[in-house]
Amino acid sequence: MVTGRFAPSPSGPLHIGNLRTALLALCFARSAGGDFLIRMEDLTTEASADHESAQLADLAALGIDHDGDVVRQSERRDLYAAAITRLEDADLTYPCFCSRREITEAVIAPHGELPEGAYPGTCSHLSTSEQQRRMAQRGRSTLRIRAAGRTVSFEDQLCGAQSGRLDDFVLRRWDGIAAYNLAVVVDDHDQGIDQVTRGDDLLATTPRQIFVHQVLGFEPPTYVHVPLVLGPDGRRIAKRHGPRSLAEVGAAGLAPLEVLRLLAESIGITDLAEPLSANSLADRFDPGELSRSPWTFDLSAEVTS
Ligand code: GLU
Repeated sequence: MVTGRFAPSPSGPLHIGNLRTALLALCFARSAGGDFLIRMEDLTTEASADHESAQLADLAALGIDHDGDVVRQSERRDLYAAAITRLEDADLTYPCFCSRREITEAVIAPHGELPEGAYPGTCSHLSTSEQQRRMAQRGRSTLRIRAAGRTVSFEDQLCGAQSGRLDDFVLRRWDGIAAYNLAVVVDDHDQGIDQVTRGDDLLATTPRQIFVHQVLGFEPPTYVHVPLVLGPDGRRIAKRHGPRSLAEVGAAGLAPLEVLRLLAESIGITDLAEPLSANSLADRFDPGELSRSPWTFDLSAEVTS
């Protein structure tokens, strides 16, 4: 029995790509006879209760229901703090005083072959007195995990064999808030999630998360990274350009059931039975039929055809 989830950030309306990912997460979990949970990743400053209710209403309009209560990261800060304390006690962390600019300007030398934008390890070997001096000078720090130089490999259920080289990434931000890569691991473990289905824009974060699972002694989940949705211009549909929310496509004339029908076709289910529902799609979903190529959504073509 698997437990899957959809974990949106309630920082705006869900767009058609998010809705497709949610449907796929439901289909992957329920087609395997598993549970499907929803978690609101609301640690960011743009997150709001209004966005959360709008997102839940849109999911409900497509019949994407969930098991158990909606979990909110903002109510789980103690869990993240406890995990960070465990990593600090294991001597796997260090405070970092570098600004973003200092990091971009630093020459990446010590570990070689780190991905662009990787942290070069500037603060990794400061003495305690130097740490105190910088803290007094800068007044704040992030907390990083010692991971540089490690390579983590895994098998993505859709994308195949993956591998990523790690840097010392952030566990706790300047403002004391747990970083995504820490919170997501603590939550997935705590909620018993063993199947993570999400957009392939997060593929590159997965080696970091698997590493955090490992150092905390957790069993990492299996991963399915699904392609994002493109607009007719070939660009990824995102919040910033062409939101393509349910409200927007509805105003253009596409009712939620029609959206669900299109999404169903996009995930390989064409011979649609009536009545159409997200759960009936899960019953007929065949992971082997899911294309690895992005799906293009052209709203104007859909409303005029
Ligand atoms: N909250 C993230 C997002 O909305 C997704 C995190 C995840 O699925 O691991 O992009």
